[in-house]
Amino acid sequence: MRIDRIETRIVEHPLLAERAIVSSLGRHTESRYLTITLYDDEGRRGFGEAATAPIWSGEAAETARWVAQELFAPLLVGHHFDHPSEPLGRLDRAFFGHPFLKAGVDVAAWDLWAKIQGSPVSKLIGDREPVASVPTRVSIGGYSSEETVRLAVQFWEAGIRTLKFKTGVPPFDDVERLGAVRERLGGAPVFTIDANGAYQTEDEAVAAIEALIPFDIALAEQPTPRDRIGMLARVRRRVDVPILADECVFTPGHLAEALDCDAFDLLSLYPGKNGGFTHSLAMARTVQDAGKSCVIGSNLETDLGQAAMVCLAASLTAFPVERHACDLMSALFYERSSTRPPIVLRDGRVATPRGIGFGVEPADEHAADH
Ligand SMILES: [Mg+2]
Repeated sequence: MRIDRIETRIVEHPLLAERAIVSSLGRHTESRYLTITLYDDEGRRGFGEAATAPIWSGEAAETARWVAQELFAPLLVGHHFDHPSEPLGRLDRAFFGHPFLKAGVDVAAWDLWAKIQGSPVSKLIGDREPVASVPTRVSIGGYSSEETVRLAVQFWEAGIRTLKFKTGVPPFDDVERLGAVRERLGGAPVFTIDANGAYQTEDEAVAAIEALIPFDIALAEQPTPRDRIGMLARVRRRVDVPILADECVFTPGHLAEALDCDAFDLLSLYPGKNGGFTHSLAMARTVQDAGKSCVIGSNLETDLGQAAMVCLAASLTAFPVERHACDLMSALFYERSSTRPPIVLRDGRVATPRGIGFGVEPADEHAADH
């Protein structure tokens, strides 16, 4: 595969107003992301998305575009690669950081590579026949009890069976919020909680989780601050709820550290956070070898970024998707799909795209750059 050209485009994706995600990290109302297109020397194209959010990775669409054009492109354009992971390897050796941008480039490289082979990516990486669809879990931001119940009922009626509540967002009382939803919807919905690192001490985290146990919590996600892996491990030993690690494990190095102290039961993976599809793939295998499992997390990727996430969940046994739903929620939050064809979410399940590459292309190829 020879990379002939890299094109980048900043695209604004408005969220449905009533679904803005409010967490302990702030309020997410619009996504300003970078679409990346790699061209080979025969004009074939691979697509990727950098889901840039300064609060999450320190990257913004404008900085990502500059880095892609000024720093990354000279290392890739005009070069020949024997495997889709090689462009990322070259970027990792040259530059620290920029995980979501690197992931956008790496996803585009895998998409282009698979198109050259005439194959879906899932066939190239999978250890199972890709499942036809993956159950999705949906996030309910930090809102009042009334608003929490309203959203929960809306998602439940739309077929979503796993509800993920953002917790630890002042001034709301999580016991009251989750209690109100259980009262309204009964025992059937699966509840998970995600504090995004809101609890500052081990005791605070343990107390917050234990207070919610009466509402039957299937997973507690990232209760402790992102840079406190040891604290997460101690919390895990004290509570009777499986721990899902998210922010504290971005990279393969973080994963090794988290496994050393046995900090989690499940790991949230996705290409943007891991700095590449290539890394997510390797990390999923490491997690499986350690006897643990993975779920797909999300930075609210649009369908373009989500296609690579569905591919991982559908084609790897490290993802027990029927037991643990994945964060594949773009259709519920964005006003319109970013891809052709759109990724279909029906009855709480996302259909696995079937086409070559990752099976989708940007819907609006002619949007003005701003
Ligand atoms: Mg999370």
